[in-house]
Order: sequence, then structure tokens, then C-alpha cells
Amino acid sequence: MQDQHGRMIEYMRVSVTDRCNLRCVYCMPENGITSVPHNEILTFDEISRICRIGVSLGISRIKLTGGEPLVRKDLPELVGMIRRIQGIEQVSLTTNGILLKDNINKLVSNGMDSVNVSIDTLDEQSYFETTRGGGLAEALEGIEAALKFPELAVKINCVPLEGQSQEEWVRLAGLARDRKIDVRFIEMMPIGFGKQYAGAGQEKVLKTLKNAFGEPEQYSGRLGNGPAVYVQFPGFRGRTGFISAVSHQFCSTCNRVRLTSTGILKPCLQYGGGADLRKLIREGAEDSEIRKNMEKTIYGKPAAHHFDGKISAAEEENFETKDMSQIGG
Ligand code: SAM
Ligand code: SF4
Repeated sequence: MQDQHGRMIEYMRVSVTDRCNLRCVYCMPENGITSVPHNEILTFDEISRICRIGVSLGISRIKLTGGEPLVRKDLPELVGMIRRIQGIEQVSLTTNGILLKDNINKLVSNGMDSVNVSIDTLDEQSYFETTRGGGLAEALEGIEAALKFPELAVKINCVPLEGQSQEEWVRLAGLARDRKIDVRFIEMMPIGFGKQYAGAGQEKVLKTLKNAFGEPEQYSGRLGNGPAVYVQFPGFRGRTGFISAVSHQFCSTCNRVRLTSTGILKPCLQYGGGADLRKLIREGAEDSEIRKNMEKTIYGKPAAHHFDGKISAAEEENFETKDMSQIGG
């Protein structure tokens, strides 16, 4: 369906948990968050029901995220449940990759169409430090396991940090040279702990990569579900993408809403509030009532985020105060 600004909303990011097996410095506090009790998290049946109602409003693509979605028990079952809903055309997953190798067979056989693995560095020590304890080898094994399925789209997401060695970006982007994989650089957004870190912007990363790989071929439009713009370096199998919410705001073409693990349908990452679908479901609401609430939230999607900080006090009051892992990144 279209929102009040005429944007077609067809994509829902669904957070399945606020828990994680890593503690990335810009996403989670060192000792973790106080996890939401299990009974406050949507069940698989509740998530599937919301997706099914979403289809009647024009949602056709679902991304499962978190927290770390693969720490949720039996996550591949949920992939299958959603993929079987008539009208759902794509189910994808965003993961840190640590548990991917163990789950990939079931995920793919249950219909997962694409997977994004988040890796910010290929240096073992830096990875350990950024994730506060993660093992790079496990994440890389997850990627290689995913690449064994030719029908699966595999992407790498990296949040480049200011001050990080630029050689790191070159190494990461270089993964797309011999592999059918897209490597995307995501600008740090001032959400939660991300406010404390300066991310490196698109222009800087692209300049570094051009110096290393030469002049890339440009793609004029966007590819895939989202706001990434892509280039392809000479001789590369995969593409290099940029998701630059700060330096190249893309709100005018935003096509997504978010469902938190506790059942709040959020129209925009930066804004708090949204529709409490869990409450409705657990109070016994009919599909029609849930649909009405989803429709109202989608229609009322704000025009844009205000990551530039140019905001009034009244606007700021409406802003999200949760961390990325709690919202669902
Ligand atoms: N645990 C999974 C993972 O790491 O892919 C899924 C959830 S994680 C919150 C999703 C993505 O959000 C990751 O790629 C992570 O790097 C990114 N992220 C977290 N905080 C961010 C921030 N403040 N700005 C931009 N991206 C952020
Ligand atoms: Fe966990 Fe993903 Fe956040 Fe890292 S970015 S702490 S892996 S939820």
C-alpha cells in the first residue's frame, strides 16, 4: 500500500529476538541488555499471522533480523512458515554469521532467498575487539557455507568506522573479486550506541576503493529491496554497495516498516511508538482489526529521519530511545 507521502510500502523487517551472541561496540553494551522475557516476544505463529495480514496490505518481502536471529531456537522453521504464505515473494536473513554454517541447509531448504552477513573487518584481532569476543573464522565459514548454494543471494554488510585502517575496507571489498557476493558499506547511523561512534562516509570509502581497484562501473538505479547504490570494480564477480542514510538520505524512496520482537510495528527506524500488534493479538483481535492498525501505521509513516540533528524539541520527543538490537537493525 502507499503511505501518506505516496511511497509504496512492500517490505517488512521482522526482529525475532533482542538477544545476541556478540556485543558489537556500536550496537550493544558490553554486558548485554536486559533481555525481554520470552513470553513478551512474539511467537512464530504470531509473526506469521502478522506477515499474512501484511500481505493483504501489499507486503511481499520479509527480512528476519534481531538481535541475532539465529540464536532464536528453530529459526529455519519460521523461514518456512513465512515463505509458505501466499503472496510472500522473498524471505531474507541478516545475521552475524556465527551460527550460519550450522543452520544453512535448513534455512535454504525451507525457502530462504537471500542472506546478509555482517562483518566489519577481516582482521581477526579487530573483529574480536569490535564484536567483543567474536571469532572471525566462524563468521567466514558461515559465508563460505552460504556460497555453496548458487540459488542463494549472499551479501556482506560492513559498517566502516572512522579511524579504522582503510586497508580493511579494501580487504572486505576484495571478497567480491572472486566470489558471487555483494559487499555493502553501511554508514553508521546515530541510533543507540551508534551515537558514540563516527562512521566513515560513502565518499571516503569509495575513494579508497577506487585507489585500490580502479574506476568502477556505475549502476544508475537501485538493485534489490533497499536503498543500496552499487558499483562494480573491473574484473569483480560481485558488486560493491553503499547504504548511506546519513550522507545520501534516501527517505523519499523508503519502502519499509519494521516489526520489533515484542510486536510493535514501527514505521521508521528513528521514531518511537507504532502499533502494538502483540497486545491486539493477545486480546483476541480479529484479523480485520489488526489489519486496520497496521494500515494506519503504514499510512502515517513519517516523511524522513532527522539524522542530521536539525530537529525541534517537539520532534525529538517522538524519537526512538531503544538500541539497534532492541529495535531490530
Ligand atoms: N545480528 C545481526 C547482524 O549483525 O547482522 C542482525 C542485527 S544487526 C542490528 C543488523 C545490522 O545493523 C548489522 O549489519 C549492524 O552492523 C548494523 N548496525 C548496528 N548498529 C548500527 C548503527 N548504529 N548504524 C548502522 N548500522 C548499524
Ligand atoms: Fe549482535 Fe548484530 Fe548488534 Fe553485532 S550488530 S551486537 S551481531 S545484533
